[in-house]
Amino acid sequence: MAKRVSARKVKIHNQYTYEQAADALGVSVQTVRLWRQSGLPVLDSQKPHLILGFALKDFLAKRQNKPERRLARDQFLCMTCNAARRAYGGMADYLPYTATRGRLEALCEACEGLCGKFASPSLCAAVAPVLTITTRNME
Ligand SMILES: [Zn+2]
Repeated sequence: MAKRVSARKVKIHNQYTYEQAADALGVSVQTVRLWRQSGLPVLDSQKPHLILGFALKDFLAKRQNKPERRLARDQFLCMTCNAARRAYGGMADYLPYTATRGRLEALCEACEGLCGKFASPSLCAAVAPVLTITTRNME
């Protein structure tokens, strides 16, 4: 649903009305108004409301980076669901690579597919209250 918008036409030192921003980006004015509701800063102390070019660029950049959303410490990115999920049954396996680095693997709570992420003993300790972790030593 979120279509890719090129922010390259936005000039950081310019100010835009909703209409000008929509024109520059090839989206509808309604879309720009929706962006405001999802966090785009708008100067609304005067009419017409103005959007600063750099704020618009910044907003679009953050929005496009969304797939790399940060996971909560007890969440995994499930490739099957393409979403952040918690561990099925609140259980995970820790596979140490070295003394300080390893991999945490769990089954997705939604699809039960395998998902994992890089982890460390300190992260395991931090999630221990919500996740039962079994350390599997690799030979
Ligand atoms: Zn899943």
